[in-house]
Amino acid sequence: AIQISAVRKQFGKQEILKSIDLEIRDKEFTVLLGPSGCGKSTLLRIIAGLEYESSGSIRIGEREITSLAPRDRRIAMVFQNYAVFPHMTVAENIAFGLRVRKDSEAHIQRKVKETAELMHIEDRLDHYSGQLSGGQRQRVAVARALAMEPEVLLMDEPLSNLDALLRLEMRAELKTILAASDTTTIYVTHDQVEAMSLADRIAVMKGGQIEQYAPPSEIYHYPATEFVGSFIGNPP
Ligand code: ATP
Ligand code: MG
Repeated sequence: AIQISAVRKQFGKQEILKSIDLEIRDKEFTVLLGPSGCGKSTLLRIIAGLEYESSGSIRIGEREITSLAPRDRRIAMVFQNYAVFPHMTVAENIAFGLRVRKDSEAHIQRKVKETAELMHIEDRLDHYSGQLSGGQRQRVAVARALAMEPEVLLMDEPLSNLDALLRLEMRAELKTILAASDTTTIYVTHDQVEAMSLADRIAVMKGGQIEQYAPPSEIYHYPATEFVGSFIGNPP
């Protein structure tokens, strides 16, 4: 499990995260859901090690990770704005992290092939990723993350730059792919429908706090606060 304990974050005098406690179970798909500015990305970036908590601790299993460099956390992250290298081919993009990690060439070739097939971009391996569509670029970003075989996959609004139809299609695909894998996923969105359809468990955030953390049906039928009910579309 990922154990987030009393994590706080201040930017200057502003308290952005107010003592977050959250236990994320292994292999589950957790969605952080909440309105713009509530602190979702900040929490995700702290877990990834791209931002420092002001206080608190995060453990993955027995490992305390807050003192570890990002690359030592066994975490991969997919961003909103297709963070792929445009001047590299799809294959080079997927291989990038594995090369940095100095994995063997045979292992790299195998992972590139395997994840490209999983994400249905195997016929694009030699293309420069700058020439791909937005959806294809996001497929590359997911393949690159999965190739690292992370314990934890973090995704920050990975579909929000795609048009509505493509978003639906990729949502269904991600759900299938990640349900079949051993990866523990934390997925950030402000889209209630997306959260309901993807999550094993939803953490609803508001103003730097967790309002409720429960499976989608429980969130919907038994919202813990008025805010949760209104936000999820089942107001009192
Ligand atoms: P959105 O849905 O719009 O992406 P979010 O829930 O991801 O919102 P965050 O990006 O975590 O929100 O930001 C939470 C708050 O922290 C916001 O008020 C934001 O302005 C502030 N914030 C984020 N990063 C910084 C920073 N580096 N310096 C100062 N304030 C910041
Ligand atoms: Mg955000």
